[in-house]
Amino acid sequence: MTGVLSAVQGPIKLLKGGRVVDPIHGRDGTFDIRIDNGLISQVDKDLPIDGAKIIEVPRGFVICPGLVDMHVHLREPGQEHKETIATGVSAAVAGGFTGVACMPNTDPVNDNVGITELILQKAREAGLAHVYPVGAVSLGSKGKQLAEIGELHSAGCVAISDDGHPVADALLMRRALEYASMFRMPVINHCEDPSLKGDGSAHEGYYSSALGLKGIPGAAEAVMVERDVTLAELTGGHVHIAHMSAKGSLRAVRSGKERNAKVTCEVAPHHFILTDEHLSYDTNLKMNPPLRDVADRDSMLEGLSDGTVDVIATDHAPHHVDEKAVEFDSAPFGIVGLETVVPLVLDRLLHTGLLSCSRIIELMAVNPARILGLEPCGLTVGKVADLTVLAPDAATEISASTFRSLGHNTPFDGWNLRGSVAATIVAGRTVYANANVQGASAFEHC
Ligand SMILES: [Zn+2]
Repeated sequence: MTGVLSAVQGPIKLLKGGRVVDPIHGRDGTFDIRIDNGLISQVDKDLPIDGAKIIEVPRGFVICPGLVDMHVHLREPGQEHKETIATGVSAAVAGGFTGVACMPNTDPVNDNVGITELILQKAREAGLAHVYPVGAVSLGSKGKQLAEIGELHSAGCVAISDDGHPVADALLMRRALEYASMFRMPVINHCEDPSLKGDGSAHEGYYSSALGLKGIPGAAEAVMVERDVTLAELTGGHVHIAHMSAKGSLRAVRSGKERNAKVTCEVAPHHFILTDEHLSYDTNLKMNPPLRDVADRDSMLEGLSDGTVDVIATDHAPHHVDEKAVEFDSAPFGIVGLETVVPLVLDRLLHTGLLSCSRIIELMAVNPARILGLEPCGLTVGKVADLTVLAPDAATEISASTFRSLGHNTPFDGWNLRGSVAATIVAGRTVYANANVQGASAFEHC
């Protein structure tokens, strides 16, 4: 599976002298990369020019396998006032992503071949990033009857999920794991016990009480993670825990992994950066799962550094400004993430010394691709040239008004961070060069 965009004919290019970080091939050092007709044809030291168009990689830039965000909401079909596939992939490449997996909670839900094909067609027309559709677990994501999982897989879905809703029924989850494993697909679950969540809108604790907001305990998530790990062991199927936020969930994943259960998990930046101490009535702080307490946040950081967490995903959830401009209780859950995650990760995880560059690439490129069964994973000769170029030291100010996403709902507006995306190359073609980063213009028209 190479996504929807295939390599195009073009001049032979040679990226010269960059720091290449590719955990798949154990590379972290200065290498040249030759791109021939959109495919990687050579990666080595001091490659000869041989008539190629030279791109001198500026000092300090890092070239890595293309980042993949395995959890985004593109909103099309049905909610094009929030985001379209075209605006979503435009935001994705500006955020450094060469591929995104889009959740099925569109309107109608992506529970059938027709919707999957529509998404892939729109993605091809946009022609920027690969789009990997996630099909629904159940018809209409209603949690009653399984969708036609085999057909969704044949149409191009890479996983199944009822994200937005948990798969609350344990037997349905069991069957989903059994069927999905026949197609080597993971079941991505939004773990949250509906009865414990109730109509809560913030993490249950001191701050929700102080603000008079109804609480959602971390246990609402953790009990379903425990259940899903147990069901993964029962069925041999692969469960992937979406947007994990609670320390009890991390504990369940860790012990499942120790028993060799097929369980993987992702964390979103807001859950390893912010806590409920940051809560106010600002609806850009309302997301599901909610911002949790310091112990939960610290346990996400621990999981990122000790290897329990497999993936950083954004849960990019664009909403129209009018929809968020209401009381906290009635506002929709979610924030955008595609265009903020790289500066946040570089500033908070790399420059603090918590994670190495190579571990970050594992979390944002290698592991999401592997979990979704995508190729290529890494800078592999003969594979499509999907590359992300990072400028880890570039100063960035997050400015929501400049986002390409139609959603500007972020709590990070105005934040000053160290680290940026310099350029994004998909199938050998530069689809984004950051005008705010000195030297990134070297990749224009590449
Ligand atoms: Zn979710």
